[in-house]
Amino acid sequence: MNPTLAALVALQALDTAADAARRRLADLPAAEREIEATVARAQADVDACRTELAENQAARRAFEKDVAAIDTRLARFDDHKAAVKTNQEYTALLHEIAGAKAEKDAVEEQILMKLEEADAITARLKAADAALAGAKRDADTARQALASERQALDAELARLEDERRGAVTSVEAATLARYEQLLKQRRMIAVAVVHAEVCEACHVRLRPAIAQQVRRNDSIVQCDSCQRILYFEAKVAS
Ligand SMILES: [Zn+2]
Repeated sequence: MNPTLAALVALQALDTAADAARRRLADLPAAEREIEATVARAQADVDACRTELAENQAARRAFEKDVAAIDTRLARFDDHKAAVKTNQEYTALLHEIAGAKAEKDAVEEQILMKLEEADAITARLKAADAALAGAKRDADTARQALASERQALDAELARLEDERRGAVTSVEAATLARYEQLLKQRRMIAVAVVHAEVCEACHVRLRPAIAQQVRRNDSIVQCDSCQRILYFEAKVAS
């Protein structure tokens, strides 16, 4: 292979690897945010259960105050009993007492319902707490994995950039400039392989004369369609 062409093929391999590493690095913050969001969702579930439990307790305390108020009324009725003079007054008093007792039964029923609700909320809170603890553990593991991936990618990128600095010295300035311009214009692919007379980057069939020229791999030939620098590689049967 023409030495310049070989150097460009090697350069493209380095740039493709570096591009993949940079893309993955660019994706990492989103992956990190997703980890935080998962923990935040689990925390929100716990918070919602705690709020619900606090509301339940407040409602129960209000009912308990109602019961205490009814008890006070009932005690007062007992005092009145002694002062009652007529049967009519006595019947009226008994009626009031029965009414207060029925009211108390109804409020106590509400308290029981709140207690049952509290049991259910407490069970959900326990599950949410466990889920949060699990989410935090998973997040730690995932954060560590991302941190080591970032470290590996940074090292890989540094190695590729170092190797690239060496590789560009074997390409003359004008050719390198053309290569780098193509790299920018053609989504980081300046050099494309040709298989079966087709440019694998743009999938356009080459003219026979061009295909012949590329097949020799002895000069810099650009694709008529996408302008990428072409080289030939016999397709390995898979
Ligand atoms: Zn092409």
